[in-house]
Parts: sequence; C-alpha cells; structure tokens
Amino acid sequence: MGSEPSGALLQIDVVTLFPELFDAPLHTSVIGRAVERGILSVMVHDLRAHGIGRHRVVDDAPYGGGAGMVMRPEPLFAAIEPLRADGTQVILLDPAGERLTDPLARELAAAGHLVLVCGRYEGIDERARALADRELSIGDYVLTGGELPALVLIDALGRLVPGVIEADSHESDSFADGLLEGPHYTRPEQFRDASVPPVLLSGHHGEVARWRRVEALRRTLARRPDLLATAPLTDQDRADLRLLSGEEDPPA
Ligand code: SAM
Repeated sequence: MGSEPSGALLQIDVVTLFPELFDAPLHTSVIGRAVERGILSVMVHDLRAHGIGRHRVVDDAPYGGGAGMVMRPEPLFAAIEPLRADGTQVILLDPAGERLTDPLARELAAAGHLVLVCGRYEGIDERARALADRELSIGDYVLTGGELPALVLIDALGRLVPGVIEADSHESDSFADGLLEGPHYTRPEQFRDASVPPVLLSGHHGEVARWRRVEALRRTLARRPDLLATAPLTDQDRADLRLLSGEEDPPA
C-alpha cells in the first residue's frame, strides 16, 4: 500500500522522530503557499508510532560498544514499506550520501513521489539502508538529525516544481546554467557612495542581458572557477572570460 496520491506535482512523505520541526517551514512563504495550493504535498510521519513495545522504542546501543545510540531497523521498515508505490524514490539523508547539487535537485523535483528518511543519534542500523533507493548528503559536516537536511531538500525541490515560482526566476539563479548569478540592484539609485550601474537604468534589454551575463562570468571566475570547466559556454563567453582573466587587453 503506497501513500494516497494527492494530485500534487510533487508528493513528499517524511519519516522522522521530530515531526514538529517541520511545522513552520511547511507553513511559511513560498513553500507554505505551494503546500496550501496543493502543488506540493508534504506528509510528515512520526517514526515513534512504529516504535517497539509499550515505550515505543526506536533505538538501542551499538553492538561492539561505543558512544551513542543506533536506530533500530524494525520501526524504519514498518514506517517506510507502506509508503512505497510505483515510482517512489526512498531517500535516506546521510552524511555519506551523494552530495545534493542543482542538477540533482532538478531531477528529484520531477520525480513525482519521494520518501525522505531522517536519521538521528549515530544513524540507522546498517541493515535499514536496504530501504533506500539513494542516500543524500547536504554537505561535508554533521548535523544532529536528518530533519534540517530533509527541509533543505524540500525547499530546494519545492521551488523547482512548475507553478511554485516563476520559471524565469529559478532559470536565472546560480547553478541553473552552470554559473553563479551576477549582482542585483534596487532603489535607491544612489546609496552612500555607490550608484547603480548605468546600463541597468538604460531600458535597453539587450545590453542589460549582456551586462548580466558578463557579471555572472566575472563572479564565477572570481569565486567558483571550478564551475567553468563544466558550464555550457558560448564563444562570446570564452572571449569575455579571456578579457576578465586579463589574458587580453579590452578593445580600445
Ligand atoms: N554517525 C553519523 C556519521 O558519522 O556519519 C552521523 C549521524 S548524525 C549525528 C544523525 C543523522 O543526521 C544522520 O543519520 C543523518 O540522517 C543526519 N545528517 C547529519 N548530517 C547530515 C548531512 N550532512 N547530510 C544529510 N544528513 C545528515
């Protein structure tokens, strides 16, 4: 038995020992509106409900000794197996998982149904990894639980679901085209000793677009030159990058 189809473009089930951590993020701002409008469905399931015995135990001491507790496999299997349907991807949040990137977020945003599994303590019993189709990490550091990583995933994926924000907006964001995004300006035109670049006030869409592209290249070159190795670049981009790296003098 899978979870009930919701009609949402992306349906996410979360399995956690701390459902209350999801309350505010799922009711606030962009993600809150997407959930309210039914474009995104997020169901949070309390793993404790599948705990063992009268005390609903979900963890135990590690075999072989050592610090901390380990999540027992039985409650995880009992919670996760019934959530699986055709096409479901079960994702374990884990520091040892594949690193979350923009291309992966775009792939998962179109996946239809995800089950996110939040670890706690020292993590889950190794045998419960068999439940997961993939394991994801949000970066090379360790958090106290998988709830914040699950919320990072929900936020990153949710904004990519069609209709949640304007496609124009996330298509020009950092990483979407392999580059960092360039700078933004708003009112006032003059703030202290800094003014808005005149091209942005020109009303000339072609020149604005060209300026933005060059600034994206400039920022990427300065801060994340590694991205340039895989970004799809035009001949014009390559010529601009040569100028920006000081390999050629700009035309007089
Ligand atoms: N003992 C584990 C290790 O060294 O890899 C760390 C366990 S951590 C304290 C508890 C849980 O937090 C993990 O099971 C995982 O679900 C989650 N977690 C912590 N850091 C994470 C990260 N960088 N990415 C994804 N999940 C993470």
